[in-house]
Amino acid sequence: MNAPYIPGGWQSRFTRQISRFLARDEIQFDLDHAIVSISFDDFPKSAVSEGAPALEARGWSGTYYASAGYLGQTTHHGTMFDAEDLQRLELGGHEIACHTYEHLDCAKASSAEVISSLEHNERALKELGVKQTLSSFAYPYGETAPAIKTALASRFQTLRGVRPGIMRGRADRNLLPAVGIDGGDAGIQRAIEAAESLAHHPGWLVLYAHDIQAEPTEWGCTPHDFERVLAAIDRSGAQVLTVRDAYAALSGEPT
Ligand SMILES: [Zn+2]
Repeated sequence: MNAPYIPGGWQSRFTRQISRFLARDEIQFDLDHAIVSISFDDFPKSAVSEGAPALEARGWSGTYYASAGYLGQTTHHGTMFDAEDLQRLELGGHEIACHTYEHLDCAKASSAEVISSLEHNERALKELGVKQTLSSFAYPYGETAPAIKTALASRFQTLRGVRPGIMRGRADRNLLPAVGIDGGDAGIQRAIEAAESLAHHPGWLVLYAHDIQAEPTEWGCTPHDFERVLAAIDRSGAQVLTVRDAYAALSGEPT
């Protein structure tokens, strides 16, 4: 089992803060109903075996941010995805999206290194049979820097982080906020409350999950907790769309 990498240090904290305010590219929107996007990062097989059927049972599709360097590996999240999982997800109408190949910390890499890594990822996923164009990207660990935001903006429609938030009226497409379906009881409660808040105050909520298993990591959740979050989304009356389709609906740009 690989020990998880934890990004940190004062430089990271500083870069994380200024990245919120610089290199922004805002879309503005006026919503009369809420939109929720459910995403999975990296991703472990349990995100497919537990996550995809739970979404499909409600007629929903998810967004899977894949790091091809994890293919067939075992990490702290458990066994990671393989080519069959990608095929199964595409057949099921889910979005395959881009992470970096080796899950690098983008705040500590040059633009050239990040681009080389994500291009490696795109090539690898294509070789594994992925047919769709990858139009959504998530920063591993949510870490980025203003120069990285600018360098990636022309390559993807959206770039997602992990800072919690709900987009209401506007969104920085170069750093979308997202709420984790993780963190034990307190974290799950936060995700449920975020979904419930949409019923009276529409917005675009992006959620992200990792492993879904009986004994989850702190970045994962149990199948029961995942269901509780989906039930809260259901109750809110939100429309559930992939990140790609939600962005298209909100920005008016074609996918
Ligand atoms: Zn990740």
